[in-house]
Amino acid sequence: MTFSIAIIGAGPAGYYTAEAALKHWGGAAHVDIIDRLPTPYGLIRAGVAPDHQSIKAVTKRYEATSLGEGVRFVGNVNLGADVSIDELLGLYDAVVLSVGAPHDKPLGIPGDDLPGVWGSAAFVGWYNGHPDFAGLDIDLSHHGAAIIGNGNVAIDCARILAKTPAELAISDIAGHAHHQLEGSGVRDVHIVGRRGPHQASFTTKEMGELGHLERAQPLVRAPDLPPLEADAALDPGLRKTVTHLRSFAATPRGDKPITIHFEFFRRPVAVEGNGKAERLIVETTRLEDGVAVGTGELHAIPCGLVIACIGYRTATIAGVPYDTGRGRFASDDTGRIFPGLYASGWARRGPSGTIGTNRPDGFSVVDAIVADTGGAGKGGAGPAGLDALLEGRGVRVTHFAHWQGIDAAEVARARPGAPREKIVSVAEMLGLIG
Ligand code: NAP
Repeated sequence: MTFSIAIIGAGPAGYYTAEAALKHWGGAAHVDIIDRLPTPYGLIRAGVAPDHQSIKAVTKRYEATSLGEGVRFVGNVNLGADVSIDELLGLYDAVVLSVGAPHDKPLGIPGDDLPGVWGSAAFVGWYNGHPDFAGLDIDLSHHGAAIIGNGNVAIDCARILAKTPAELAISDIAGHAHHQLEGSGVRDVHIVGRRGPHQASFTTKEMGELGHLERAQPLVRAPDLPPLEADAALDPGLRKTVTHLRSFAATPRGDKPITIHFEFFRRPVAVEGNGKAERLIVETTRLEDGVAVGTGELHAIPCGLVIACIGYRTATIAGVPYDTGRGRFASDDTGRIFPGLYASGWARRGPSGTIGTNRPDGFSVVDAIVADTGGAGKGGAGPAGLDALLEGRGVRVTHFAHWQGIDAAEVARARPGAPREKIVSVAEMLGLIG
């Protein structure tokens, strides 16, 4: 019997799982990579910053996997609505949930529901043209923006707000966002961290980029930096990141019109405003055993835009064990939820690491599948069964050739110098492929 695997999610975790399956079965298995959107590549398309094109080059590798023997991309299929987990478990020998962590961790402070407060999933999805978020009304008329969190997503959001329209024009930022940012009034971008420079999750390259922006200067308050000799204890990557922060603190204030203020040791306590966000209230903190403890000293950061970049959670699926504390599926270390059902990538380990961190996950999950099944199929209906079921339900499925058509159309309508102009509406994509 031909072994069959359904991988849910066509992002990096899904593709590395498919790659591992191809390697193990050498093309002798059926591998369906199923996605809710008509397009593949998940976070590479809708999460990675549009001005980081070199990271997106990894899609060439995923394309090779898509075209591998026995592999299909099956797009525009919504798990839960179009097909259930139980149906997939009946059709395939193994089902792998590589669905990422698409939901923002809640900020949980008074005023976090005011207009002007967004989670990074929404804001990043908006500028990247994710169909769920392309229509958001992001107000950039205010002078100030507060970005909460000291990770790379916070830096991405700050950089996108700070770059000039010309700097962004050569990226694949969605046209609507490029247009809106062209008229942006934001001049003060505050990156708010509840702990200090030594506790930040920024990486070196991303931090270094902030020092080379055409119209923005990063500003660090020197007293927020620990004594220089304390850097020796840091791991080399963080030490280099902190070195950038030290150089920002030592750079005299120039005349660039936008300032990126690092607000270390500031815990967000409330968003205030008259019917919309007007200021973020933060409390100064000090560290006790690495934990941020409030001092009672409050400050107001004037801002009409608040973006919470504080991490993500995996969506729950009825009947699939979930670790609520960690915001991901409950699985063992290999990704096994129970024999037959597995998780890989952020859906297994939470939102951490780089794109490449998902590769070993894919291999580990295939090892677990082989350990549970011996790698032999049990005779389910597999891809043919899925096709029949979806056809019966009138689901309009997209395959890799359709994506190639969408891809070509996006490249053809790109701004001068840009790699593509994304189609941001599912209806338009489906219309295009006819
Ligand atoms: P992250 O690196 O985990 O950073 C989350 C930040 O949010 C931390 O500084 C955390 O502070 C803070 N935070 C959490 N809860 C908070 C709260 N309630 N109030 C205030 N602050 C809070 O997450 P991320 O930036 O979303 O990035 C996710 C992953 O994607 C990371 O592995 C990242 O490196 C990766 N990524 C990589 C790139 C790239 O390579 N270019 C770009 C984007 C994302 P504490 O430390 O105090 O908890």
